[in-house]
Order: sequence, then C-alpha cells, then structure tokens
Amino acid sequence: MPINSPRPTPSFPAIDILSWIFNDNTYTYDREEPLYISVTDPTQHITGNQLLYLTRKIGRGLRELAGVKAGEVVLCASPNHLLYPAAVLGSICAGAIFTGSNPTYTEFELLHQLRDSGARVIFASAVTLPVVLACTAKLNITKEHIFLLDGPKDGVRGIQDLLRNQGQDWQKITDYQKLSSTTAVLLYSSGTTGLSKGCEITHWNLVTHSVSTISILDKVSAERRYPNRKFPEPIYLAFLPFFHAFGLTYFVMNNARMGRLTYIVEQFTFPGILQAIDRHRITDLVMAPPVAVLLAKSPIVKDYNISSLSNILCGAAPLGTELALAVEKVLESSGAKNVKLHQGWGMSEVTCGGTIFDRGDWDERTGRLAVGHLAAGLEAMIVDDDAREVKEGEAGELWLRGPFVFKGYWRNEKATRNTITPEGWTKTGDIARIDDRGMFYIVERKKELIKVKGFQVAPAELEAALLLNPDVADAAVIGVPRYKYGGEHPRAYVVKASPEVTAASLEAWVASRLASYKRLTGGVEFVDVVPKSASGKILRQILRDRASKGSLVEKPVSRL
Ligand code: AMP
Repeated sequence: MPINSPRPTPSFPAIDILSWIFNDNTYTYDREEPLYISVTDPTQHITGNQLLYLTRKIGRGLRELAGVKAGEVVLCASPNHLLYPAAVLGSICAGAIFTGSNPTYTEFELLHQLRDSGARVIFASAVTLPVVLACTAKLNITKEHIFLLDGPKDGVRGIQDLLRNQGQDWQKITDYQKLSSTTAVLLYSSGTTGLSKGCEITHWNLVTHSVSTISILDKVSAERRYPNRKFPEPIYLAFLPFFHAFGLTYFVMNNARMGRLTYIVEQFTFPGILQAIDRHRITDLVMAPPVAVLLAKSPIVKDYNISSLSNILCGAAPLGTELALAVEKVLESSGAKNVKLHQGWGMSEVTCGGTIFDRGDWDERTGRLAVGHLAAGLEAMIVDDDAREVKEGEAGELWLRGPFVFKGYWRNEKATRNTITPEGWTKTGDIARIDDRGMFYIVERKKELIKVKGFQVAPAELEAALLLNPDVADAAVIGVPRYKYGGEHPRAYVVKASPEVTAASLEAWVASRLASYKRLTGGVEFVDVVPKSASGKILRQILRDRASKGSLVEKPVSRL
C-alpha cells in the first residue's frame, strides 16, 4: 500500500507559476517593501512590485530583441545576482522555458547543457562571459542573443537593454491539462544513471510544490523554540545557487510569493556569509552540509555575531548527526537561542523538497537523523530490487508519485521510461526507510550519483572525460566517503593504455576539463579490468567493496 503524507493535502489552485507569485491574492504583503537585497551592495534592492515590472519587461524584451518564441529554452549562466530572479521569471513571462547552469562550468560542461537544452538565448555575467563566448562561437549563437546580468561588456548587451519597453502580460493558464503539460523550467540532473539531463518541471509542478512547501513553512514558526516570544519576521540569506532546485524553489519561487526578505549573496566566501548574518541580522539559513562543516569547525565563527539565527534547514546531501550537534553547539555559544538543525530531502526530479519537517515533528530521537515527513500531496512506496514493497520499517528504494513529480527528461524518452513507471512512480535511486511515525530516513544511495558539496557529480561524465585520454583504456568512477567531515570524493579505477600514465596526470587531466568540484579527490587506482556485467554495465558495487577495504589516502578538498 502506498504511503500517504500524514499532512492534509492543500488545495492546489489551477494557475500558472507567475499568477501564483504575482496575482493570486490569498497571500498579501507590502509589495513596495524590499524583497531582494544585494549583499555586495545593500543599497541595491528590488521590491515585490519592481520584480513584477522587471518580469513583464524582460518577457517582452526577450520576445522583441532576441526573438524568443513560446516553448524555447533560455539559459542563465551566472552566479547569484540581484536580477537573477527577474531573469527566471521574465523568461517564463516570454513563454520560454528557463534553465540555469552552474557558473563554474568549463566550456565542455556548458556546451553539453546548451546542446542538450537547445538554448540559443543566454543570460550571463562578466565572470562566465569567456566560457559562454567560447561555447556560442561553436554553436553559431551571436552576441545579440547574450545579455549580461551585471551590465554590458565587450560588445555584449546588458539585461537593461531588455527593459526598454512597456512590458507585457504573460499567458495565463487555468486549465489543468495545459498546466501539467507546459514546461516552465529545466533542472539539470543526472538522475539515476548517465549524463546530466533536463528534468522538465511544469507550471503545475512549480505551483503545487510551492503550495505544499509554503503550507509547512507557514507553520514552521519558532514557537516551539521560543515559547514566550513572537517569531521574528524571517530574513533569509540566499547563497544556495539559483540554478539548482533548492535555491530556485526556495528563493525565487517561494520567497517572491511570500514576500520574504532575502539577501542575495553574489559570491560565496565563508567570512562574507558570517559578516552578512552579523550585519543584516539574518534569521533563516537554507544550506547544504559543507556550510554546516564550516560553521562547526571554522575558528572565525566566534569573530561575528550570529545570534540572530533561529531556523536552519539543511538538505541536498546527508547531514551527519555529530555534525548537526556540533553546529548547534556553536550556535548556542554564539547566543542564538535553541536552534535545532533539521534536514529535508529533495531532488530535481521532484521539483525540490520531497520530505520536510513540520512544526512539532522535531524531537531528540529523530531530529538530526530523519529527513522529515513526506511533503503534503505526495505518495511514496519503498520497494526491493524486484519492485515489491518491503516490509514495514525495512529499507528499500524510495519511489514517489504526486503533483510535483517531474514530467520527464527533456528530449530523452528512454531515460524517462527508465525512471517513471507506467503507473506514474518516479524511482529516486535513494534507499530509504520509514519509522512508525511516518518519519523518513535516507539510508544509502542506489544510483550512480556522487554528491560533492551538495553538487551533483555524474560518474558517467568523469568516465567520459577519462576515456578521452589516449593513455586510458577503460575507466570507472565511484564516490568514496570522506571520513572526517562526511560527504563524498570521486575516485577513478583506470585500466592503463600506456605504462607511463600516472594518477597525478589523470587527476590533472580531469581538473583541466571539468568544474573544480568534480576533481578526482578520492584518487586514482589502476586495475587490470573494470568489472562489468555481461551487458557491459559497470559493476560499481564490486568497486565500492574494494574501496571500503582499500588504503587510498583521503586528500584535502579545496575550500568552498
Ligand atoms: P539534486 O537533484 O541535485 O537535488 O540531487 C538529489 C539527490 O541528493 C537525492 O536523490 C539524494 O541522493 C541527495 N540528497 C538530497 N537531500 C538529501 C538528504 N537530506 N540526505 C541524503 N541525501 C540527500
């Protein structure tokens, strides 16, 4: 029997995402008040009304200046920026599909996303421009199709050029069929296997996910932590990247909808984060485990006043209990009152959050281990390798079904068929169990994915990069645990094609081709043969067993 969320299913309005954010009047806040503020220059801000004007103008500008048509993809290759949310919503207003890419991508990686998505209009910024131009030269995309969020440069126009018009309305959608078939966003994820693919997230996915999450966020007040105090208005610090599901749904969709004050971090440095918490009296952090590591271990934390923090949600990768306790201890000694870390579990294929803590869910027994209850509106099944439901309390693969489970992979029917069953269940590739209170625990990962600093690293991509090296005859990559702080390292098992090849030369080869978080920090081990099934599938479990007995030394990972 499928497991239902213990939470009442909210009523999901049949409207498009822009109408949900801007027009639906069931949630009201002062739209003349600052909504987004730049951390780099706090005199720069955008109010709720300005976000609406920008969305409408960018929507029209994209149509008139770049010839954007309904259903085509617009890509944004930029770090977080004050105008990033407007670029997302403006693209959707133009009738386009928005996709964000990691701003640290190399040419090789960005080319893959540009080719796969078919995007020919690009938002970029000064730091990503060289890589973007290298890609657009190969794809015959002209400079007229690039717009820089941080102003014009080197003959490329700024986003301001898109604003010289009266704006336009977006196409309102109120029909369920159309809402659930019209894609608004592509979130790139490798899923359970292979290279990065575009998860098609529809208007219906975005709205229902937002309604479901907000129904919990509204209740996650600090009453249980501050029994005698009124919950302060939340002030968020947005350093999670907006190209990823976590940053996009939290800060662009939900916070715009709720009018929650959000300081946007354009460039992540840990001292910068602490300074922003101190200076702007930040109450809410949404983060991935590497930031928890820094909070727990960094000696500079005590140099800042972070006592305003009251609510921290951690997700995107597993958070160790000891690490969570260490962060809580640091917060307590900073004067922050009784902050409990809670985890959420999510994935791009589920729009973002699939489980989350509700008010009152948290207790000492489950608090730091569990990832919460199933999000309102979702159904789950926990199944064994033969797709049979496991016995109560046993672990198995988590399958999900519901309104914010994605439509499928962009132009990739085969991957879609392998991930979504005919009955509509999406296979998450995560091994989970559930306790007698309906609380979920993520036990292990079945899929190939490696997570480094909360970012996806697809073994298939590293293997492809290694196989391009003439000295490599065959290669397989797995994730090995980082013992000290939790998290994973990518490690390669390589069959030599030439006796001279060294681990260091292959590590350098990968480092020169892919973003820095994909480096082979788990090392390279040479093998005679990569273990494979009769059909040629890499038998990763054999390599994992080998790694658990092995002696490769853990290497230091670069700072965030
Ligand atoms: P992404 O699509 O990049 O968000 O990656 C989704 C994957 O991240 C999930 O399928 C999990 O493997 C992993 N993940 C996310 N949150 C958690 C968590 N709280 N605990 C363990 N793994 C997580």
